[in-house]
Amino acid sequence: MNTALATEDMMTTMTETAADSPEILIICDQLQHRPTLYKLLTGAGYAARLETFNTPDLWPLIAAKRPDLILIDMTTASGNGYAICQVLKRDERTRDIPVIFLSVRSATHEKVRAFAVGAADYLAKPFAVEELIARIDRQLAARQRQRDFIDQYVRERDQHAALNEIKDEIIRTAAHDLKNPLSRINVLLRMLEVHGSIADERGRGYLDSIAETTAQIRDLITHLLDVERINHEDSAALIPVSVNDLLKDTARRYTPVAEAEGIILSWHRIDADVTLRLDVARMQQVLHNLLANALKFTPAGGYVELWAESYPDGVAIHVQDTGMGIPAADLPHIFEPFYRTQTATDQQIEGTGFGLAIVKRIVERHWGQVEVASVEGAGSRFTVWLPFHEPAAAAALA
Ligand code: ADP
Repeated sequence: MNTALATEDMMTTMTETAADSPEILIICDQLQHRPTLYKLLTGAGYAARLETFNTPDLWPLIAAKRPDLILIDMTTASGNGYAICQVLKRDERTRDIPVIFLSVRSATHEKVRAFAVGAADYLAKPFAVEELIARIDRQLAARQRQRDFIDQYVRERDQHAALNEIKDEIIRTAAHDLKNPLSRINVLLRMLEVHGSIADERGRGYLDSIAETTAQIRDLITHLLDVERINHEDSAALIPVSVNDLLKDTARRYTPVAEAEGIILSWHRIDADVTLRLDVARMQQVLHNLLANALKFTPAGGYVELWAESYPDGVAIHVQDTGMGIPAADLPHIFEPFYRTQTATDQQIEGTGFGLAIVKRIVERHWGQVEVASVEGAGSRFTVWLPFHEPAAAAALA
C-alpha cells in the first residue's frame, strides 16, 4: 500500500467531519495497519489524524495542531510508545493533552510503565470498539471539565482584579472626601474656642455646622460600608416579591417627605401584578436611592412619579421627576462612585455621590440594568430593568 496516498485520502475524509468534532491524533508504529482504527474513529464522529512514530518534525506538528486527545498505538511488540509519551508530557505545549495507549502488550508492568510516563489510560488488544469509544469520551469529558475550570478561574481572577482597582479608587477618593469635612470640623472647633460660646447664637451656629459635617462623614462611611457589603453578598437572599407591594411600600415611605418638600409624589400599580425573585432589602434600597434623588433634585411644586411595566421577559420600574435634570456630558458618569454634577456641588445639595453606584451594583446582582434619560432643566427618568429569570451563567457566578 502506498502510505502517502492512503494518508492523503484520510486527510480528505477528515475535512468532512463536523468542524467542532474532537480531534484525535493516532500515532502508530506501523502506518499500514491503521486505516481500520482511523475509519472507526471518523465513523464515530471524531476528526482523526494519523502519524507514525517516525514522522519527521512530529513534535512541532503536534504542538502546532494541539489535538484534543492522542492515541499511541503499538501494533508490534517492538514499538516504543513510552518514549513518545514521555516527550509529550515534558513539553508544556502538549502536557495537558490526554494520551491513551493501545497495545499488544497486556502485562501489568507494561501498563504501569505507561502510567509512569503520563498515560491517561491503557487498553490492551484485542479490545471492543465500544470500550475504546467509552474511554476516549471519558478522557475528552475530563479535559473539557478541566478547561471549563481554567476558564472560570481566569474569569474570576479578572473580575477580582477589576474589583480591586475600583476598591483602590474608592479608598483614594474616600480618604480625600473624609479629609475635607474633618478639616472643616477642626476649623469650626477653633472658631468656637476663639470667638464663641455654646451659649450664644454664634456658638450654636458653629455647633450646627459641626453636626451637619459629622452627618456627612457618617453618610459617606455608611455608603462605603454598603458597597463593601454588596460586593460580598451572594444571591441566597432572593425571594419572590410582588412588584406592586414593592412600589407601594416605597411610595408610602416617601409620601410624607414629598409633602414636606411641596412635591407631588404619585405611583401606579401594574394591572396584573407580577412577581420577581429579589433581595427585598436591597431592592428597596435601590428604589429609596432613586426616589430620594428625585425629591432632592426637584424643586417645590414639581412632580415625582413611580410606576412599573411588565414585559414577557421582565419588569421595568421607572422613577421620573420634573427636577433640574442632568447635563448630557455628566450622564455617562453619574453611576460612578463619588461622581456628582457641578450643579449639585455648587448648589450644595447634600450627598456623597455614592447612591447611584450602589443602585447599579445591586441591580446588576439581580442580572438587571439601570438606565437614565434626562433633559437639563426639565427632569430625569431612571429605569431599572429586572429580568424574570436569572441566566444560568450569571447564576453560576453569583
Ligand atoms: P448623591 O445624590 O449622593 O450626590 P448619587 O450617586 O445618587 O449621589 O447621584 C450622583 C449625581 O447624579 C448627583 O450628585 C446628581 O448630580 C445626579 N443626579 C442623580 N439623580 C438625579 C436626579 N433625579 N436629578 C438630577 N440629578 C441627579
